[in-house]
Amino acid sequence: MGIAVIAGQVLSPGAVLIENGKVAEVGPSAQDRAPPQTRVLDLGGATLLPRLIDGHTHLFLDVVAPAEAERTRTGRKYEPGMLLAIVESPAKRVLTAAKLAREDLESGFTTVRNVGNSGIDGDTELRDAINGGRVEGPRLLASGRKLIARGSYVRNLNPALADAILQQEYLIVGGPDEARAAVQRNAFQGVDQIKVALNRDISAASVAAVVEQAHLQKMKVTAHAHDRESIQQAIDAGVDSIEHGDEATDQQLKEMRDKGIFLDLTPWVWEKIYPMSPARNDQGRQAEAALVQKVLKSGVKFSAGSDMYLYFPGKTRGEASATMFTALSSSGMPPLDIIRAVIANGAEMLGWQDRIGAIEPGKFADIIAVAGDPLKDISELERVRFVMKEGRIVKNELRSHSSSE
Ligand SMILES: [Zn+2]
Repeated sequence: MGIAVIAGQVLSPGAVLIENGKVAEVGPSAQDRAPPQTRVLDLGGATLLPRLIDGHTHLFLDVVAPAEAERTRTGRKYEPGMLLAIVESPAKRVLTAAKLAREDLESGFTTVRNVGNSGIDGDTELRDAINGGRVEGPRLLASGRKLIARGSYVRNLNPALADAILQQEYLIVGGPDEARAAVQRNAFQGVDQIKVALNRDISAASVAAVVEQAHLQKMKVTAHAHDRESIQQAIDAGVDSIEHGDEATDQQLKEMRDKGIFLDLTPWVWEKIYPMSPARNDQGRQAEAALVQKVLKSGVKFSAGSDMYLYFPGKTRGEASATMFTALSSSGMPPLDIIRAVIANGAEMLGWQDRIGAIEPGKFADIIAVAGDPLKDISELERVRFVMKEGRIVKNELRSHSSSE
């Protein structure tokens, strides 16, 4: 059955025996030990991998990138579209999210972490609908409302309406008490984890309160942090993972490694969506290449996420999100590191390493296949041909024959 990549090791020939949605046996012997009546699916020379994980997505945003004239005039990349999403009907929004979730699954992302901008209960409800079989989509980790400082995302709203609009999407953290209350409000909606945005605008005491309350309630905390000061705040507060991390220093990456804090890289994919000046583009790409080198050298645990919130003309959401693999590769990350990041490390970052991750006995039978070898050509991951989630075939474009033994 082709090759199976398991925790970075390549096995060939690969065979996987699946029972009741879980992996029962892996390796050449799996086929021999299959009980009578087992359905055999021969995928020829395809490469088998466990699921892809998108560590950072926004299924409730499908923002049309503003035209260049609009961006030049206002200096804003996403605010008009994001504001529109927030004030739209939640019913309309959740139906869009359901479509994007299905598209992610069809591209091999059987697990995604949704990190904010999904209304009050959008992603928790979508997660439950998927788990309940009412909607087709990936296993979803929901963050509910993002904890932010007032004014860090949408600004200049009509003062008479501002609070009503903001609370549809965010929980405002003005101090430690509000921070704890925000975590509790998200917990009330059944979130899986807490997302807090740090932009040098929330006090250290508040960040510490977020982490303390979330951990008390057995939830992980992930912090959006681009700048050095915010990254340090996140490290000092003891968050579980840091999103983006653009300005992380060697020292900070070592501290993260020592404390077991994950870095979730969000690669530079924007030039494919926004028309951007060559200078700005080079700058973004070079900064990312420098970060990738520092990360690889530091030994910090890292995963990756698409941070996809934009409508990508001509691509489904899954295809758009999968552009992160070639983006990481262009920034100098070796294919095996990319694959580890979005499979094994991603599962550990989510705290789900006991359920997902490698193709191993006892784990959910999430298996994808690509026609070629992604270790030679990482862009194979943009063309996932076969998707199985929990033992059920979602998509199969490979020439295969199935039979019963
Ligand atoms: Zn994001």
